[in-house]
Amino acid sequence: MATHLTGQRMFLAGKWVSGERTIDVYDPQDNSVVDTVPAATADDMLRCIEAAKTGAETAAAMPVHERMSILTKAAAYIEEHADRYAQTISREGSKTIREARKEVMRCVQTIRISAEETRRIHGETIPFDQTPGGENRVGYYYRFPIGIIGAITPFNDPLNLVAHKVGPAIASGNAIIVKPATVTPLSALLLAEAFVQAGLPPKVLSVVTGHGSEIGDVLVTHPAIRMISFTGGVEVGEELTKKAGLKKISMELGSNSPLIVLADADLDDAVASAVSGAFGAAGQNCLSVQRIYVEEPVSYAFKTKFVEQTVQLQVGDKQSELTDMGPLITEKEAKRVERLVDDALEQGATLLTGGTRNGAFYSPTVLADVPEECAIAVNEIFGPVVLLYTVPDLNEAIEQSNKVDYGLQAGIFTKSIDKAHKAIAKMQVGGIMINDSGDYRIDAMPFGGVKKSGLGREGVAFAIEEMTEPKVVCFKLATD
Ligand code: NAP
Repeated sequence: MATHLTGQRMFLAGKWVSGERTIDVYDPQDNSVVDTVPAATADDMLRCIEAAKTGAETAAAMPVHERMSILTKAAAYIEEHADRYAQTISREGSKTIREARKEVMRCVQTIRISAEETRRIHGETIPFDQTPGGENRVGYYYRFPIGIIGAITPFNDPLNLVAHKVGPAIASGNAIIVKPATVTPLSALLLAEAFVQAGLPPKVLSVVTGHGSEIGDVLVTHPAIRMISFTGGVEVGEELTKKAGLKKISMELGSNSPLIVLADADLDDAVASAVSGAFGAAGQNCLSVQRIYVEEPVSYAFKTKFVEQTVQLQVGDKQSELTDMGPLITEKEAKRVERLVDDALEQGATLLTGGTRNGAFYSPTVLADVPEECAIAVNEIFGPVVLLYTVPDLNEAIEQSNKVDYGLQAGIFTKSIDKAHKAIAKMQVGGIMINDSGDYRIDAMPFGGVKKSGLGREGVAFAIEEMTEPKVVCFKLATD
């Protein structure tokens, strides 16, 4: 059953408000309008920031047990209404209904972990007498909220990636203004609904729908915003970093993740994991497996099995329980992927399967022999395309893996502890999965990248660290 909501309002400064202009939200698989949301103006955003100043005071004054209780209730609300949340994710975005259900359950986890981490925002005593002159001083530091956080989120996990900012912000006593992706704003509004139902005081959370190009600058440059927490593409991320000025910045950006399969690997396990890592969410995942380096002795066997399993993927109606892969987020995105593949083929790559487009759908595609200077080999594809390479040994696999400007996560399949440790030490990434593909993640682990994949870490406790500052307290004692 399809969810059909009409005329959503945005959640601005504790009130559900409409706008003079609206944005249609489309289902990418058939271009039907799922709903409309307000197109906020720069003035709306300014009003929201003013209100968030009060919200930040309210949030900081909320005792830990209240924050925990609100977060716990919000998680329970989402769990209770999981079906509506999943339908919304799947209709406005490109995930299949099975993928959407998983995202909802992960969001419940993220908010529950946020509730638990609230009680663990600690400080430490400081031994001041380690420095001459520090005798007779005692003190400590504790962490305090930084104030108002501006959160900008992408389309590909429209609920859980918003929860990764909202949960830690509330846990740590901050106010937060979310600007969700224009193509998928409905899930973020549903998240706000859960917090309203859970009793979050007004003005602590706002979800402002509108075009980044129209309202983004106000949020990013405003001096009252003390942190920009951005998840999205590297181009926008770099632009915002330049504009933000003196404020904290957390950047969760893209990648073109490598996977290494060595000759001693469990091949069936590696193939299954690689297929799921490459084509989950139609490859629109910052962790998608994009480049696979297979050691020469098992290269042919891996390639054969990998293509066999890829062609079995069911592509089609997102709402069907049988579908493995849905469309890309828009036809424009599918055309972009098509151009990248065609360009690689013109430059000498070999097409092993896929390479066809139908509207916003692009078939699961496997390429071999892609010249290393091709755009598809060095940039993020963000689509259902994977590149297979044969390598003579681990050293070459690591060297090739590290050649790009990105470094989010990687995977390696091997039974050798020594080889796994070599990869752990040498690969330039924020996380490495041994005997799994690099798209494995839980919501409580530190998550983020090196190089152009980002700055800072999410994963609830780590986001809380970024969203708070230490304050030092020192008592100078009388020396009688
Ligand atoms: P995007 O085009 O960079 O957009 C991300 C967000 O930035 C959207 O809300 C967008 O708003 C906003 N934005 C665009 N221009 C802006 C501006 N001038 N000022 C303020 N905000 C602006 O990314 P996307 O296509 O939605 O998402 C895909 C990208 O996200 C991929 O590169 C993927 O790897 C990355 N990603 C990274 C992670 C991670 O954790 N590392 C997770 C998921 C996705 P509009 O929609 O209104 O343009």
